[in-house]
Amino acid sequence: MTASPGALVARHVDTLPPDALPAYLYDLPALRAHAAAVRAALPDRVELYYAAKANPEPALLTALRPFVDGYEVASGGELAHVAAAVPGARTAFGGPGKTPAEITAGLAAGVHRWHVESLHELRQLIALGVPVDVLLRANLPVDGGGLDGVALAMGGRPSPFGMDPDDVHRGLRLLAGRDARHLRLRGIHAHLASGLDADGQLALAGAIAGHAVALGLGEANIGGGMAVDYADPDARFDWAAFGTGLEKLLDRHPGLRLRIEPGRSLTAYCGWYATEVLDLKRSHGEDFAVVRGGTHHLRTPATRGHAQPFAVRPSAHWPHPWERPAAAGPEVTLAGQLCTPKDVLAGRAAAPGLRAGDRVVFAMAGAYAWNISHHDFLMHPRPGFHVLDAPDGAPDRGRP
Ligand SMILES: *Cc1c(COP(=O)(O)O)cnc(C)c1O
Repeated sequence: MTASPGALVARHVDTLPPDALPAYLYDLPALRAHAAAVRAALPDRVELYYAAKANPEPALLTALRPFVDGYEVASGGELAHVAAAVPGARTAFGGPGKTPAEITAGLAAGVHRWHVESLHELRQLIALGVPVDVLLRANLPVDGGGLDGVALAMGGRPSPFGMDPDDVHRGLRLLAGRDARHLRLRGIHAHLASGLDADGQLALAGAIAGHAVALGLGEANIGGGMAVDYADPDARFDWAAFGTGLEKLLDRHPGLRLRIEPGRSLTAYCGWYATEVLDLKRSHGEDFAVVRGGTHHLRTPATRGHAQPFAVRPSAHWPHPWERPAAAGPEVTLAGQLCTPKDVLAGRAAAPGLRAGDRVVFAMAGAYAWNISHHDFLMHPRPGFHVLDAPDGAPDRGRP
């Protein structure tokens, strides 16, 4: 298992001056290669949408464009942002609690697919009279079949997302009414779980597709949630097995159109958060490194309760006449600058000999990282952002 950046990112990290750290670095060639492999593993009849909430960085949205059929947006803000970043791209508009203004904006934007989260939302769309293609988001009962032991955070149990099966049937009756003729019912949408492996996703896909077909509908959007293993940065969701399984599913349902909308599993790997060790000390028998920045920039390990994988880039530079602080033991807890014990990026991680002044590059920081973090807590400066696209030409957005 390695968490080491490729040459493009490593070279850039080494050349940044200390006060340009911390910094996010996005490896666009790596993102393109990964997205191309995902697309190639999927049958042609499966549409691939990117869930923009995982990371809405415009350079990433643009880099993904040749490989995706569209973008899933979950707010009026994301809808406007995606329209500006990738003009003309198809969008699917989901998200619970759409405001009247967001609904109006969605109708004006001409979204490709509307994911209806409730009967109240459906009634608003009926009342507004604007033609639109809709999928009913269903909170389907899911059980057994490959899903054992998986945390089903989004559905299959009480949740604010989507409609219960009874409400789906009520929605179908509403859609059959005369006053709903402007709404084109396309299918069922269900984003029920996250962190599923290929077998789990296929079991879910089979169940959702089965529901759509049983209702006489031609489309099933089976959501995102493909597993990302932060404990093993080299592991990838088995897209080849997933693609083969979807092919078989489509053989069983020849008329069906399938759509998936992953976020994390597309962009997690292309992002890196680089920083340096400011201080290192021993506390009651354990080593602690305090790095520039912290979970106010990279909240992922705090929200998920994992150690963010990282690589150390040792620095020979030590400008002070006194002894350089260094780890005494094989394990170090990498903490940030915040005055809270929750500000831990990696607890008791293997980093023998880590010293103040060494650089640390955290891997898998391309999804649910900067954009889910509480940036303003403690008023530290924001990180730099570097979009890396070629060994010598690295467009640089600086500090926002
Ligand atoms: C968040 C979300 C996704 C993407 O989930 P990932 O775990 O990032 O793949 C897809 N669809 C919906 C409706 C979502 O809310």
